[in-house]
Amino acid sequence: MQKQTKAIRTQAPKSQNREHSVPLYLTSSFAFESAEQGEALFNESEPGNIYSRFSNPNVTEFVDKVCMLENAEDGIATGTGMAAVFASMAGLLKSGDHLVACRALFGSAHQIITQILSKWGITYTYVDATATEAEWEAAIQPNAARPNTKMVYLETPSNPGLELVDLTMLARLKEKHGFILNVDNCFATPILQTPLDLGADLSIHSATKFMDGQGRVLGGIVVGRADLIAPIRFFARHTGPSLSPFNAWVLSKSLETLDLRMERHCRNALALAEALENHPDVARVLYPFLPSHPQHELARAQMSAGGAIITIELDGGFERVSAFFEALQIPTLSSNLGDSRTIVTNPNTTTHAKLKPDEKAALGITPGLIRISVGLEAIDDLIEDFLQAASVSAEVLQERV
Ligand SMILES: *Cc1c(COP(=O)(O)O)cnc(C)c1O
Repeated sequence: MQKQTKAIRTQAPKSQNREHSVPLYLTSSFAFESAEQGEALFNESEPGNIYSRFSNPNVTEFVDKVCMLENAEDGIATGTGMAAVFASMAGLLKSGDHLVACRALFGSAHQIITQILSKWGITYTYVDATATEAEWEAAIQPNAARPNTKMVYLETPSNPGLELVDLTMLARLKEKHGFILNVDNCFATPILQTPLDLGADLSIHSATKFMDGQGRVLGGIVVGRADLIAPIRFFARHTGPSLSPFNAWVLSKSLETLDLRMERHCRNALALAEALENHPDVARVLYPFLPSHPQHELARAQMSAGGAIITIELDGGFERVSAFFEALQIPTLSSNLGDSRTIVTNPNTTTHAKLKPDEKAALGITPGLIRISVGLEAIDDLIEDFLQAASVSAEVLQERV
């Protein structure tokens, strides 16, 4: 059976009611049948649930399904994507360790690395996503000398610049230098890209995005090598960033349609990207599966489709963006992404507003940049709406001059 079939068929154990749809195990704790069973569960000679901060049937089902899709040995779910990112670092790094990270990171990951881990003496070096193998290697501090590089952390494709990192190249460096390769796979989802198959050790998701897919719940997960998940699980069990059973129940059901949704998301996104690229009033379109993307070849090699995120650049700065958003009829203005509804945002004034001017410049975040999270609406409606908004907003600006 293919892994998608297996993920759909994987379910939490049935109760005596023989329910087909998995019930919600909204229970904080689990009862012991005897003193001996309590002892056995705690000393792990008998597997089973004890307390929902440690494990819960709905959460386990969600983790099992993602492990299936990612070809992962083990995993741990968390209350948000950021909790997964933080647990993966806090569970594995200690004072004196060095982290190499891709510069193009989700805003809060940047804050964890620069403001939080640094308090505990964990140092870092940033590298550009598009850096060469030699440039990545130069950032790695090898051998037992302190500080030594324990982890390389990155997102591919990145937000909002849609830069890609070559995972096979980093896996090669990993063989040589022995760091942990930790990949935020949120934008691609396990449907389009499986980093573990390309040599990564850990793969992280904000389940809030495409995994839920309908903007309802927050959630996160880290999956990968069992020997690395063990210390992350220890960290999570005792510090408590657990995923709620209700959110896990929602997410487990959502995963059953992830493959189907990603197919439509990607088809819509490619068609919209092509239409926008041919519009005279759109200065630039970035989409990994457009031949004009600077890393198009890598995208084709590493991903099975281009994803649901398109980034466009409009001439005329914030004023033009404002007119464009005003003219759009269908999309929602929101900082979220990965929803069945198309969403647009201006990263410069929202998600990435806190970055310093030089950091924005390094990531290509300009005032006229717009991130589009393409939804599942009928593509003809989306194309018509975006094209008219591009024209109308250009006219509005011209009238003002
Ligand atoms: C949203 C997001 C996160 C953070 O996830 P939350 O669920 O909001 O905590 C991390 N990485 C990427 C790429 C994201 O898009």
